[in-house]
Amino acid sequence: MPESTPTEGEPDLRDRLALVRARIADAAAAAGRSPNELTLIAVTKFHEAPLLRELAALGITDFGESRHQEAREKADALADLEPTWHFIGQLQSKKARQVAAYATVIHSLDRASLADLLASDERQAEGLTIDTFVQVNLTDDPARGGVAPGDSEALAAHIAALPGLRLLGVMAVAPNDGEPRAAFERLRRVSQDVRQSVPEATAISAGMSNDFAEAIAEGATHLRIGSAITGNRPVQR
Ligand SMILES: *Cc1c(COP(=O)(O)O)cnc(C)c1O
Repeated sequence: MPESTPTEGEPDLRDRLALVRARIADAAAAAGRSPNELTLIAVTKFHEAPLLRELAALGITDFGESRHQEAREKADALADLEPTWHFIGQLQSKKARQVAAYATVIHSLDRASLADLLASDERQAEGLTIDTFVQVNLTDDPARGGVAPGDSEALAAHIAALPGLRLLGVMAVAPNDGEPRAAFERLRRVSQDVRQSVPEATAISAGMSNDFAEAIAEGATHLRIGSAITGNRPVQR
């Protein structure tokens, strides 16, 4: 799988990352928030390990991946860096335990049966947890990942009661159509619902390359930013 070759004049990785960080700082300031409240997750799906290594050298500690096979290969290749791995893609039940072997955070927990598979008495006994987000589907299409907004609080309560799992908060992708700000405002209300049952689940995973400023304005704490940092994705393998 070849990395995309930068075309002449394209800003390099360092410049793109600096620009994203500056735009995050601007959006935080505009929202009256501190950038320290924000976790930047570099989404590196389809990119090879050397690019992640470059990002680590530029201070990135959190990587987002959406496909298990690819994520596991990179987790092996970069084990010496001990990064935080965020699994952000739709998760098949049969892959759940394998993902739990390397993922520190799973953003795409959207059903109780999947949570049950990820729960672990042994992990709990060792004092360890996998951090999780309830993924909320903000579209009208049930085939998209995520639980319906109205079912989020019940799923959150279910997860919070399981051994070896900790619920950080809610996650969503803004629908392709419509205003991202309105979608994130809705997610913020879902977050408030969830906190009725799980008060410590205060985090909000929202905001991608094209909408992270809107997400920050609506309280996002975990930004999942890919192409604005990495440049265009290489051809899918
Ligand atoms: C790919 C992906 C991202 C990053 O998208 P960009 O538009 O490249 O920033 C964020 N979240 C999820 C769930 C993704 O699949």
